[in-house]
Amino acid sequence: MPRKIAAGNWKMNGLQSTLSELRTLEDKHGDADIAILICPPATLISACEDTPFDIGGQDCHTGEFGAHTGDISAEMLADVGASYVLVGHSERRTDHAETDALIAAKSEAAYDAGLIAVICIGETLEERESGTTLDVIDAQLAGSVPDTADAQTTVIAYEPVWAIGTGKVPTTDQIAEVHGHIRARLSERFDDGAEFSLLYGGSVKGSNAADIFAVANVDGALVGGASLTADAFSPIIAALEEA
Ligand code: PEP
Repeated sequence: MPRKIAAGNWKMNGLQSTLSELRTLEDKHGDADIAILICPPATLISACEDTPFDIGGQDCHTGEFGAHTGDISAEMLADVGASYVLVGHSERRTDHAETDALIAAKSEAAYDAGLIAVICIGETLEERESGTTLDVIDAQLAGSVPDTADAQTTVIAYEPVWAIGTGKVPTTDQIAEVHGHIRARLSERFDDGAEFSLLYGGSVKGSNAADIFAVANVDGALVGGASLTADAFSPIIAALEEA
């Protein structure tokens, strides 16, 4: 797995007509030597099968098959061409009350299916303002990242909840502090902790991407809104290629 990753999370956006954005992006970045990961809605994964980019799901169930109406297993995502899956995005943690233990179990399911798990962590504004950010990060790392994780199977995305979709971005010092802390914790716990790819997510745009990618221990970005169009995502990819 390349260490630099530009990941786009389309969330509940995207129809078949949206794939024209992907084709435009392919024309510009189809031979990039960084990983470009697109996480479209599950309905579009099959339609992305001929893209040169990596494809990921946005969530998976802990089980392989069974009576879970509306859910999708990691096995199913792999079957239609996904190689990654996001787990523990703050919108899942909030909208679906997902716990750290559930996220760890989903990560294990991803490994079993041969998928790379992108495990999302991050503090709320209240936690940031009360000075507990690093405690929250510690608890989420301990609870959401399985002991079986390694740098080949797991990517960590630090996404402060208050920065997602708000246009608010932490200072580069704040990002450096949290990413340095995550790196230290991973290195204490895993033999290859220094090798994990660490992504920053939260209101990344073409205008701030280069500054964010210059921060120590930032290996890429998980991008929501700005990944929806080739015009907005392309400068972020270009900034990571140049970082
Ligand atoms: C996200 O949802 O993971 C995200 C980072 O969103 P945005 O880039 O829109 O803040």
